[in-house]
Amino acid sequence: MNKLLGIIFPRKCVGCGASAAHFDDVFCDECRVLYERMKSVYCTRCGKFQDLCRCGPDKPSSDVSRYIHLIEYSSPISRSIIFTLKDKNIKALRIFLAEELSNALIAAGNETDGTYITYAPRSRERLTKFGFDQSRELAKFIASDLHLRPVTLFARRGGKLQKHLGRQSRMVNAAYSFLPATDERFDGKRLIIVDDVVTSGGTTSALAALARQMGFSDVTVLFVAQTPLKLADRA
Ligand SMILES: [Zn+2]
Ligand SMILES: [Zn+2]
Repeated sequence: MNKLLGIIFPRKCVGCGASAAHFDDVFCDECRVLYERMKSVYCTRCGKFQDLCRCGPDKPSSDVSRYIHLIEYSSPISRSIIFTLKDKNIKALRIFLAEELSNALIAAGNETDGTYITYAPRSRERLTKFGFDQSRELAKFIASDLHLRPVTLFARRGGKLQKHLGRQSRMVNAAYSFLPATDERFDGKRLIIVDDVVTSGGTTSALAALARQMGFSDVTVLFVAQTPLKLADRA
């Protein structure tokens, strides 16, 4: 049925927005090639392929057991994917990315049995503006793909938008931006935290620290795009 609708009302390609997406894809044929190429570029930090890279953000947190992501946030196509995910309510993109993230999780050898899944919550002002939380939506689809236990663990305290802060103040701001959304204990359980882009790692570090306080013994951060190391930072 979806395929039939796709032929009658061709979807715009998520990569370029210009051409129509291939009938069974979120991309046009050219952008599909560009996306696949993004998945096999070398990480600027560890030199491994993206699917083998576990670098995570600038300052990885000791509360995080592993970081798993799909692509680097470095090309027009990765920016289009993230922009569309954050600002447009397109179910097909969420389903596609959820499948990709599910596959990445399995490929990394993550245990799924009895594992909980949650998300980095969107700021209240953005939630109001756009009407959805993109990471929550991704987590929902991944949970159903892999039979994980979806749970809402974190709430926003308000806080300034991370986007407008420098990297240092992002770390500090994030630490007091979140609070537990439940009193439940999860002693010895495994958790997956879903996010869209990880840059400074401030948000995911703060969430992982809260998760450890709730009793989780294994915390995976699963996200779409990793901000590459800037050339200046490498010197
Ligand atoms: Zn395209
Ligand atoms: Zn790496």
